[in-house]
Amino acid sequence: MEVVCRIDTQFAEQIAVLLEPPSPLQVQEYFDELITSKNCNGIQVKPTNAYGKGVYADMEFEEGDLVLKDQMLVGVQHSSNKIDCLVCSHCFQFIGSIELQIGRKLYLQDLGSPKDCSDLASSDGSDMEEDHLESQHCSSTTSRNRFKLPIESVESLMNEKLTLPFSKKFPLPSVIDCPGGCKEVYYCSKLCEQADWDLCHSILCTGDGSKSVSKKALSKFIEHANDTNDIFLLAAKAISSTILRYRKLKSAHSKEKQKNKMSEVLGNHNFSLLLKAWKPLSMGYKRRWWDCIALPDDVDPSDEAAFRMQIKQLAFESLVLLKEAIFDEECLPLFSLEIYGHIIGMFELNNLDLVVASPVEDYFLHIDDLPEPQKKEVDAITQPFLDALGEDYSVCCQGTAFFPLQSCMNHSCCPTAKAFKRDEDRDGQATIIANRPIKKGEEITISYIDEDLQFEERQALLADYGFRCKCPKCVQEA
Ligand SMILES: [Zn+2]
Ligand SMILES: [Zn+2]
Ligand SMILES: [Zn+2]
Repeated sequence: MEVVCRIDTQFAEQIAVLLEPPSPLQVQEYFDELITSKNCNGIQVKPTNAYGKGVYADMEFEEGDLVLKDQMLVGVQHSSNKIDCLVCSHCFQFIGSIELQIGRKLYLQDLGSPKDCSDLASSDGSDMEEDHLESQHCSSTTSRNRFKLPIESVESLMNEKLTLPFSKKFPLPSVIDCPGGCKEVYYCSKLCEQADWDLCHSILCTGDGSKSVSKKALSKFIEHANDTNDIFLLAAKAISSTILRYRKLKSAHSKEKQKNKMSEVLGNHNFSLLLKAWKPLSMGYKRRWWDCIALPDDVDPSDEAAFRMQIKQLAFESLVLLKEAIFDEECLPLFSLEIYGHIIGMFELNNLDLVVASPVEDYFLHIDDLPEPQKKEVDAITQPFLDALGEDYSVCCQGTAFFPLQSCMNHSCCPTAKAFKRDEDRDGQATIIANRPIKKGEEITISYIDEDLQFEERQALLADYGFRCKCPKCVQEA
């Protein structure tokens, strides 16, 4: 069954203009301005040919030097990760307190598990060996060695009535609620709250203060994304941010006109403003999602066409829900399947992981390092919580984000730099460190894959990114 999106045909001309690759000059100008405004001195983005671009050193770097901290354009925490970590929805640093992080995770973990699991315990044949807690039951179908704490202990952690020893050594910013009242997103500061509201959340909020067209449709869209692929949530943020940028440009434009006593007719100017609002995204996309997504291992190559059609259909389902939720007449071309496919394809190809280390892990490591007999005393209090959390007590914040500068870095199997978070990097920014000394003018490359794999394996993985690697290492091993 062919998927037909009417906006695609109705606005074919405008969509083609939106999807036209920016010229080398536009690329150069956009990134020069971005680098200056974000204070990312030391690097330059240069067009390499009609379609490609690369990042080059604008100064010397020693091994281990910070090359770049790249702020994301848009990002989302994975839906499944939200149980594990409470983070700021804008900068993705952990918020609340060590107690809140632990208590919340235990609470949500227990919500999702059966109340009485004696059957499960016997069916998988595992007996609870340790029993230093009075009211313990197995609490999860996934981890055998996890203990369920009394709800009172979990609650006293959550409402911060119980203070764990040494937790004050790991302070976190207080939790700030969404001003729209959705109770689904939280922030580390008023600054992040405002920035996210202005960037995209004002029309993606499901609370009473939402500026979306239909909160009901929005909830349906979010549910669909959570059930299928949370990459749609990122695409929704990209579209929302474009719409809001457009509205800002338009209001600035009409103010300017009023000042000059010119008539209010915007007409075709609307589209040029939309083009301008779209610019940050136009620098990133390459191919449509259903064309570039790697064929999963369990799909037979002879079913490839059917698989790609299914993906396209899934995207269309999601787009229809999104359109109902945040529709804007003046930004209609943005709701075409072509544009949606390209936006999602951009995230798929650039597949940039968002990772922030957990302070809960640091906390328990600190306890573990205490000298005796102090350690024993503290352990008596903290160990039950560690047991209840189970093996995955140290899960980090995980998600997907689009980093405008990092995504310009080309791949090499002997890269000059690598993505690496240092101890002080406690938010969702991408951090790039020099792998070896880099000379001024030299290209800054990173590896998209595990560069220690064999030649054939590397090439197979890189084929998913749509190219054959010709780096010095590959040339030598070919
Ligand atoms: Zn924040
Ligand atoms: Zn909200
Ligand atoms: Zn290579």
